[in-house]
Amino acid sequence: MLRDNEFDIVVVGSGVAALCGAVAAASRGRSVCVIEKTAYFGGTSAYSGGSVWLPGNHVLERDGVDDSVAKGYTYFHSLVGSRTSEERQRAYLETGPALVDFLENTAGIPLEHRPFPDYFDAPGRSANGRTVFARAITAEEVGPRLNEIRPMVPADQFGIDVDRSVLDGGQAWVARLVMALDRSGNAELALNTTVEELVQDEAGRVVGVGVRATDDETGTRRVVHARLGVLVAAGGFERAAGLRQVWQQMPTADWSSSHPDTGSGDALRMLDSVGAELDLLDQSWWCPATLFPNGHAAFTLGLRAGVVVDDSGRRFANEMLPYDRMGHAMRARMAAGHSPQFWFVFDDRAGDQLPAICVPAPDAGEMREAGLWHTAPTIAELAAAIDVDAEALTNTVARFNAFAEAGHDQDFRRGEDPFGRFFVGATSAAQCLQPIEGTRFHAVRLVLGDLGTKGGAVVTPDGAVKRADGSTVSGLYAAGNSAASVAGAVYPGPGVPLGSGMVSAYRAVGDMVRHLTPA
Ligand SMILES: Cc1cc2nc3c(=O)[nH]c(=O)nc-3n(C[C@H](O)[C@H](O)[C@H](O)COP(=O)(O)OP(=O)(O)OC[C@H]3O[C@@H](n4cnc5c(N)ncnc54)[C@H](O)[C@@H]3O)c2cc1C
Repeated sequence: MLRDNEFDIVVVGSGVAALCGAVAAASRGRSVCVIEKTAYFGGTSAYSGGSVWLPGNHVLERDGVDDSVAKGYTYFHSLVGSRTSEERQRAYLETGPALVDFLENTAGIPLEHRPFPDYFDAPGRSANGRTVFARAITAEEVGPRLNEIRPMVPADQFGIDVDRSVLDGGQAWVARLVMALDRSGNAELALNTTVEELVQDEAGRVVGVGVRATDDETGTRRVVHARLGVLVAAGGFERAAGLRQVWQQMPTADWSSSHPDTGSGDALRMLDSVGAELDLLDQSWWCPATLFPNGHAAFTLGLRAGVVVDDSGRRFANEMLPYDRMGHAMRARMAAGHSPQFWFVFDDRAGDQLPAICVPAPDAGEMREAGLWHTAPTIAELAAAIDVDAEALTNTVARFNAFAEAGHDQDFRRGEDPFGRFFVGATSAAQCLQPIEGTRFHAVRLVLGDLGTKGGAVVTPDGAVKRADGSTVSGLYAAGNSAASVAGAVYPGPGVPLGSGMVSAYRAVGDMVRHLTPA
């Protein structure tokens, strides 16, 4: 629990957006606390690949990437359009370079660019992407805080022993931001502490939060006061089955990649309770996911071979689409009356290995026992095993093989976009079209998963929480998946969830410091 009862800024949650906001506050000499309900810092952010989409920044320039804020805005706005406010879109894009400068030169977090193509063929697209990553860090450098950082998915959700001698991706971000807070001397960080409510004064200004020790069921609660404001960056409602059923008609919330303890929807409930306008509740950062015997589903991307079919045994999309776009295609299929059973069908070239990136890699034996992986000597027998029409699946594979021979996918143009080719290491569409052939075929169950929900409070360009009448709730800010995404229903490129969340949090703190007088 926290030692103090009063801070300039109170931050709810400890994902990358929350921590970034806290670092921004601490570096301005403000006292700040970070309150996290679970035993680990990092939330879903700690699981992430750690790519952060911020066009036109100095790290890209240092790496020779030809990019600018204007190009980034053209790209982003051409995709998102008027679904979210143009001012907020501009604020995201225009603040990116300042945030990157702050993180590297003030917060002391070394950054680097790694190539990863944008997700749409739209004006302003960058061939190499425009993502920055926190540089990897050794466990030794992190020190005792290591055990307080949420482990990666294989360890956290599957109990697999994972080497943690070097932290990369989202792990590196969380570690480095926590370390920056420790260095600042202005921050208190509390684990195992649940924020239960937002506390308002008589005028309706949010002046603090009500908290309790997470494992305390006795109802003992205390108030932590915020002199300037409260930033809610406590993630989405991925694991809140009831909310997902209402807003997203999801077959099950268990298929989210987030941890069951983190995406509880607390933020949404708290923001709703003070009259926040909510938006985009039907949207998530979607992805195909491999269903595992323990009921969890793991983010699956970078398909290199095979086809994906629905319960009719037919393809319905380019399997090499960026994951959110494939997720939208799966969702549309379900909305059209198909079951949530999708199958990834491939041949035996790689034996019992999934020709895709899935972390952890599924164990074929365990999957077969659970009925999630079937293997057969012919496509017709495979169809019987997965309960789809044999003629339909046979025709699907035959048609796909004809496309492979011709080097052109007439149905979905697979391999024509640089994103698909990126994971295959291909230079032509034809290289993305291997025929499905041989004497042993596999079908692995895929479901519609997500990397987080995207609906939450509508916020101003500075992250201030809005009411439906256009006014703001004084003292209250939201960022990350607690806020309705600036990207609307689109996932424009790798790192937009983290990048937009970090910018919102950074701007929120700037706004609090500039405009609010202490309560
Ligand atoms: C495998 C994977 C890879 C991904 N890769 C990328 C990537 O490379 N780039 C990218 O941009 N995005 C990526 N994403 C998506 C991204 O990680 C998430 O969308 C993002 O981390 C959400 O951040 P957040 O700050 O909103 O929430 P989180 O990171 O989930 O943090 C929220 C925290 O708030 C805490 N909390 C909740 N309620 C309370 C409460 N009442 N009191 C106190 N604390 C509370 C939770 O326990 C949690 O720790 C990936 C996701 C996954 C699963």
